[in-house]
Amino acid sequence: MKRIVIKVGSSVLTETTNIAEERMLHLVSLIAEARKKYEVILVSSGAVAAGYTAVNLNRSIPTSKKVLASVGQPILMSSYKNMFDIYEVTISQILLTEEDFDSRVHTRIFQDIIDRTLKHDILPIVNENDISTTPDQLFGDNDQLSAHVAYHTGADMLIILSDIDGYYDSNPKDNPKAQIRKFVTEIKEEELNQNHTPNSKFATGGIVTKLKAAQYLIEKEREMFLCNGYDLTCTREFLIDGVHNKGTLFTYKQEKKEQEKKDKK
Ligand code: ADP
Repeated sequence: MKRIVIKVGSSVLTETTNIAEERMLHLVSLIAEARKKYEVILVSSGAVAAGYTAVNLNRSIPTSKKVLASVGQPILMSSYKNMFDIYEVTISQILLTEEDFDSRVHTRIFQDIIDRTLKHDILPIVNENDISTTPDQLFGDNDQLSAHVAYHTGADMLIILSDIDGYYDSNPKDNPKAQIRKFVTEIKEEELNQNHTPNSKFATGGIVTKLKAAQYLIEKEREMFLCNGYDLTCTREFLIDGVHNKGTLFTYKQEKKEQEKKDKK
């Protein structure tokens, strides 16, 4: 069975100051379906935003942000638990820091935990442990964390669910004529060095951290699919039906390079 990592961003999971219950339920239903075909690991953002639903602290103060994350993490997990119960899926919570990948021993421990979790048909839900990390240890965004999780657990692909349909030739929020790119096989230096453009106030990465995640995986001969988490149609088509309509596939595969060239003509 193929193994995949699905990463969902804060923008998808939260609506102003609430958890976006309906979107979360759609996601949970898709994951329950995908589990019949794949081993699934979920990387979920949204702890700080969920914390806001309970307490109004100033998240620009680092310690307050940690408190928000610590309040929000159980809120987020209890929402997941209630929804996955409907599909009789057992979930686990795994909180990581960069140190979990800093040596072969640590990486091995993490791999073993994930392997054993999946073997027992449990869905691991991974997030960065915002509480115990120092600023220089933080991945800071779950895009790059999920790329590390994908690589170190031997996953074939990372799916990133965001608030956009894919990667465009320019920011679609500024340029209505921006064109979506179906395949990307190479990411240029200037694309990686552009300004960070997170869209919602809880989003941290913007497109740059997604490109960095894609770059990391392409170098390691893995793939990444970026698509819309608000409307899961394209993700369902891609994962369940094997049809790639919308969404951007970042890939190292040679035949897709040819496809990318044809698309550009
Ligand atoms: P998430 O919370 O899902 O991680 P982010 O807000 O961090 O989402 O990142 C997605 C945002 O990146 C989009 O809403 C869009 O405004 C911005 N963006 C900037 N440049 C591009 C681009 N070339 N293609 C797609 N999105 C872009």
